[in-house]
Amino acid sequence: MMRSMSRPKLSALGISILLCAAGPTGALAQTAPSQAQMTPAQIVAQNRIEDAKFAAFVKDFRDTALKAGISPEIYDRSMTGISRNPRVAQLNLNQPEFARPVWEYLDSAVSPDRVTNGQKMVATYAQPLAHIESRFSVPKEILVAIWGMESNYGEAMGNFNMFEALATLAYDGPRADFGRKELIAALKMEEQEHLDPTKMTSSWAGAFGHTQFIPSAFLAHAVDGDGDGKRDLWHSAPDALASTASLLADAGWHLGDAWGYEIALPKDFPYEEADVDNVKTVAQWRKLGVTKISGAELPHGEATAGIYLPAGAHGPAFLVFDNFKTVLKYNNAASYALAVCYLADRIAGGAPIVASWPRDEIPLSRDERVAFQADLKKLGFDPGDVDGVLGHKGRAALRAYQKSHGLPPDGFATENLLEHMERDIVAKGS
Ligand code: CA
Repeated sequence: MMRSMSRPKLSALGISILLCAAGPTGALAQTAPSQAQMTPAQIVAQNRIEDAKFAAFVKDFRDTALKAGISPEIYDRSMTGISRNPRVAQLNLNQPEFARPVWEYLDSAVSPDRVTNGQKMVATYAQPLAHIESRFSVPKEILVAIWGMESNYGEAMGNFNMFEALATLAYDGPRADFGRKELIAALKMEEQEHLDPTKMTSSWAGAFGHTQFIPSAFLAHAVDGDGDGKRDLWHSAPDALASTASLLADAGWHLGDAWGYEIALPKDFPYEEADVDNVKTVAQWRKLGVTKISGAELPHGEATAGIYLPAGAHGPAFLVFDNFKTVLKYNNAASYALAVCYLADRIAGGAPIVASWPRDEIPLSRDERVAFQADLKKLGFDPGDVDGVLGHKGRAALRAYQKSHGLPPDGFATENLLEHMERDIVAKGS
């Protein structure tokens, strides 16, 4: 993953930590709340406690690792002398204050440079890519797009010691289970591939190499792409691209099918139907008045697709097929999948998105997202936990609220809508 120091994302079948459609890199990341109000002396004292907990974990986890089949030599040489990484611990607790709007995310994820460099990579690696495409039936542009998204074509692969990063996630905190599982996988990978543990570098979240695999994804999907008999995702772009193709093939990529395309919705479109997971046949969408963005009719096909509205009813709309969902297996954020697919289209010479983004909309802050959920609750809708994370349940509640007020039920939280709800609460209270 690029910007691995600050991007709150785990990659390649990792858990996605994104709070919103916009995804990666919240504009303003807070420091760990636990240390925010401490004096320097308190921080030193707390770090001492955490370091002791970490050392105890490294000692205790040895048994777990050995039971999982890791040899004592491998464990000791990888885990002896590592320390808790405070930067990883901090990134692990980060909650972005503002979710980045999806249009800003796409501006940088699919920048003109990223497109041009992707086209150069398609040319440079034409031969291995052709081989990979025929071996795994995954288009080269998708692979190169993931490469661009994950490490800016090998430029930013992460400089943390993988064992330090994963052990810091594993010893305590919200991703302890993930960290433990990946730590075992990293040790297995080291043993299988005869790696030097000091040279196994990763992002803060343990993703590594050109296409930012996590160790368990490596064990499950990695292949040798350049024919030297080794699977080296750090030093061989063909190995990383072939492994990514292998992962997407295993996830069900279907060559020849579209990932999706931009569409236009009629004025009276039932927005409650717009959801990636609400699949209908193309023919059914056609009946609801959906057209291609050009205005041309949708085909009569029986292929099934959902509708993705990255910015709600006031932004571009996409019809997304099964291949789009395959990319979600790589990173479970729809905005990420859109960025990959759109970048792939642009690399292949495709046109930019036609509809305009609601760029004047201000993203909700974390506090506002909490207020949003609390307001929905006050108004008799059930948004689930009031935690600032607008998930599935929250969006469903929001759609119900919008529908009951004659607003397009797109489930997209905006400041206007928050004000709308607050006026409602005042009116009800008086
Ligand atoms: Ca190789």
